[in-house]
Amino acid sequence: MIKMSYAHNFLSGGGEMGQYIRDYDWDASPLGNPSNWPQSLKTTVRLMLSSSHPMFIWWGPKLIQFYNDGYRASIGSERHPHALGQLGQECWAEIWPIIGPQIEQVMRGAGSIWQEDHLVPITRNGQLEDVYWTYTYDPIYDETAPNEVGGVLVIVTETTDHIKLQQKQRLEEARWRDLFSKSPSFMCTLMGPEHEFQYANQRYLELVANRDVLNKPLREALPEVFKQGFGDLLDQVYATGQSHTGIAVPISLMDSNDEEHVLYLDFVYQPIRNSSGEIIGIFVNGYDVTARVLSEQRLEEQDRRKDEFIAMLAHELRNPLAPIRNASELLLKISDTTSTSYALGDLIKRQVTQLTRLIDDLLEVSRISQGLLKLQMEELSLDEAIKFAIESTGNIIPEKKLLLTYDCADSNLRVRGDFARLAQSFINIIVNAMKYTEEGGRITIRLHREHDDGVVDVTDTGIGIEAPLLNKIFELFVQVDNSIDRSRGGLGIGLSVVKTIVAMHGGTIKASSPGLGMGSTFSIRLPLILSDFPMANAPEKQSLLPLAILIVDDNKDAANSLALLLQIMGHNTRVTYNGKDAFTAMNAQTFDVILLDIGLPDIDGYKIASAIRAQNPDQIVVAVSGYGQAEDIQKAKAAGFSDHLTKPVSLSELENKLVNLTGHYKNRQ
Ligand code: ADP
Repeated sequence: MIKMSYAHNFLSGGGEMGQYIRDYDWDASPLGNPSNWPQSLKTTVRLMLSSSHPMFIWWGPKLIQFYNDGYRASIGSERHPHALGQLGQECWAEIWPIIGPQIEQVMRGAGSIWQEDHLVPITRNGQLEDVYWTYTYDPIYDETAPNEVGGVLVIVTETTDHIKLQQKQRLEEARWRDLFSKSPSFMCTLMGPEHEFQYANQRYLELVANRDVLNKPLREALPEVFKQGFGDLLDQVYATGQSHTGIAVPISLMDSNDEEHVLYLDFVYQPIRNSSGEIIGIFVNGYDVTARVLSEQRLEEQDRRKDEFIAMLAHELRNPLAPIRNASELLLKISDTTSTSYALGDLIKRQVTQLTRLIDDLLEVSRISQGLLKLQMEELSLDEAIKFAIESTGNIIPEKKLLLTYDCADSNLRVRGDFARLAQSFINIIVNAMKYTEEGGRITIRLHREHDDGVVDVTDTGIGIEAPLLNKIFELFVQVDNSIDRSRGGLGIGLSVVKTIVAMHGGTIKASSPGLGMGSTFSIRLPLILSDFPMANAPEKQSLLPLAILIVDDNKDAANSLALLLQIMGHNTRVTYNGKDAFTAMNAQTFDVILLDIGLPDIDGYKIASAIRAQNPDQIVVAVSGYGQAEDIQKAKAAGFSDHLTKPVSLSELENKLVNLTGHYKNRQ
């Protein structure tokens, strides 16, 4: 049979489905020839074919079906095209329990159906699919039909893709939340300008004592946090889009007993932007580092106490050393150089010097670790500093009969540095060479220039150093094979101090050794002053006139032995053991120099110095104290002392001080 095609105006257009409808044999259907269809059906079919929006019609009690091209996309090959003209229940048997009652409601005249993102699983494209629809079932008015409802117009949008995307996003979000919730760091998201909590993970909630923060702005959720300036910080990140990182930031938080306690947090505030790049919130992520910060603080406190202890220890050790040193100097002065007492005096002096050196090392370390080491920079000759070091070490281990030679390739090498500290560094290296070289060995010191550096090599024929230890020995408290080194004394401090001091001069120190038993070389390299001007000659030493000196010290041994020394040097001395007697002595007599201990039983030395300074601004008052750190010296100067000597005072140091001070004094007269 040749199919006829209906050419009614109301069936025109409508794309593929328009064609199907025109080609359909309506005469053979319960609807009959389209020209006889009720007007309302014609109007609705016309509307459907003109629209690109997916539409579907069930008409009449048998629910005969129409649909347009827009709807075509949502229907699989199982139903298309024979769904056209088919009876509703026949076509949708599998979902009839869902849609049947809804259609029935509309047909009954009980009103429209509106469903949003409604799941209606259908078989299409060979499988049962979860399909989501947003649709209306609206009655098509027909006055001739029962309930005046001729059929149902379905205007539908398939929202499956949208819903699936939403589901995917939710799944993804849930996955992230799951991941975040297990994170050891705390996390939350604060949305909008009021920083409203949208999400907080377990760690975050624990941090805020499980308070109910979600969906509340920070100001309300955690008022104490807001008040501490974190609100302002968040405002700033929100306004500028610049993330903010805080390290070990203290924050006071309420605990579950409503008590505030301080925590330390590392955290980052990161702006969250929407797809157009606008800031919509802030992601907070961080760690509670309270335990770490507290343990660091404890360590710092312990370190500070250790430094204080070392300084105190050095002071206490220095006090008894002062009279011993004075006594040894006295013995040397009054004894015949061939006598036993001279030899004993010499021995005591050397041991005291060694002890003093150890204490100095300890103090130096505590100063370095407290960042208190200050250099007094001047232009100096490396040759002179080395000679000074050699002189100072000359007698340290005479029994070893070491042969020490100094080879100076250039005596004009000058550096900017602290003479005392550099000389002390050379002394440390030379003394080490002596300690670690067996009897009869050789120590060679060589000064030469390499490019723009002055290089001091101290080479010994001693025990040598294994290659892996060449760098390690510069670390604090490192000693190689303690069993041997203990017998050689030392604390494993010297080289670390030397390294620091040399570095503070812009220089380096390096150790090299061909191997165990084959000696070592320590090379100190310092940047030279490269100007061609010769150094100004050091001023001639002044000869010292006999001075009237008052010694004030409650340690009677220290006071008396110092007085004896000064007398042997030709000076006139007076000794008092407390502040009150010192004032009596000063009222009775004028002194060129007053050597004043600081820790006195009645009046402290600082007060005495200030009082003396107030009465007589020209009086020379020198502090003689066991405290020898930079700040002690500064404190003494601030109190009015002219200068400061650290116990035990060496004869040459005392002599130098007196020359400098009294020379100064006399010039001013
Ligand atoms: P100390 O000598 O007080 O132990 P140092 O810091 O001065 O401490 O030296 C660290 C270690 O380096 C020493 O214990 C020693 O093992 C090694 N050392 C230093 N100088 C020499 C040297 N000239 N020869 C061999 N070993 C040395």
